[in-house]
Amino acid sequence: AKQTGRNKVCLYNGSLHQETQKKALLEQDIHQALALNQFTVHYQPQICARTLKVKGVEALVRWQHPTQGMLSPIMFLELAEELNLIGDIGQWVLHSACHQLKHWQRQYHLNDDLLSMSVNLSTFQLQDINLLSLVSDALASCDLSPSCLELEITESSIIHSPENIVERLNELTQQGVKLSLDDFGTGYSSIKHLHLFPIHSLKVDKSFIAAYKQKKSQDKVLEAMIKFAKYLGLSVIAEGVETAEQLAFCQAQGCDLIQGYYYSKPISAIDFEAKYLIK
Ligand code: C2E
Ligand code: CA
Ligand code: CA
Ligand code: CA
Repeated sequence: AKQTGRNKVCLYNGSLHQETQKKALLEQDIHQALALNQFTVHYQPQICARTLKVKGVEALVRWQHPTQGMLSPIMFLELAEELNLIGDIGQWVLHSACHQLKHWQRQYHLNDDLLSMSVNLSTFQLQDINLLSLVSDALASCDLSPSCLELEITESSIIHSPENIVERLNELTQQGVKLSLDDFGTGYSSIKHLHLFPIHSLKVDKSFIAAYKQKKSQDKVLEAMIKFAKYLGLSVIAEGVETAEQLAFCQAQGCDLIQGYYYSKPISAIDFEAKYLIK
């Protein structure tokens, strides 16, 4: 056992070294990635739990790295943050996602209330005093109605934001933009956030959905969370729904929207169009 233990330590150090090397390589490239048009956005549908129609779509950034292939945001967002590039990437994603939805609205004659676009906001963006005008600019640049945009924020980013964050979020929602609380149930999960902040919807973290039927006590927490959110009049989005069983549970509990591999992984704009918009 000791032998294995020692080997494990070695392996771990080895991969740690590899990670550092990989990071150094990515660091050289990420500075140029925006200019070289290497970022792309993938789209994952949010399906109405009752009508089974697609009601929303979440924009998720990807990096088409020239030699490493398609990189997931968990591989590079932290690095982008360290290098002060997260704001630029975030604004690029916001613009791309708004333009994409406007294009789909025009192409497929979609009303504003038919399909909404969800975009993740980093802590950095949330702290930016120009947030309101950055969002307004993105909407105005493609003439998209604010009511079509939903910004996903996490509780940890709220906590690390300045004191006047409530007012600033209120300004955003007064424009008609909606806010959703992402990864709910992980981290802070304070009732205070649900009631102090102008939140429209709550996204139950996928870890709860993944744990469904594995631990009875956790299922009770999940049930209570959904009930509580509904009691507050919030829309509930279940994310990470992968199986028919998880789907049935979320539907029975009254979740409004379902997002997860059961319906679709995040896919390119072209694939999304083919799968959900072309009739
Ligand atoms: P998130 O906002 O919680 O996004 C959901 C993540 O869960 C996505 O991973 C999505 O691909 C994945 N997912 C969706 N359905 C399922 C499922 O059924 N099973 C499992 N196991 N996973 C599922 P992705 O695209 O790798 O993004 C990871 C995280 O990176 C996101 O988590 C978000 O925090 C961040 N992120 C992605 N795009 C952006 C962006 O444009 N801006 C910012 N600030 N963060 C982003
Ligand atoms: Ca999200
Ligand atoms: Ca999430
Ligand atoms: Ca997350």
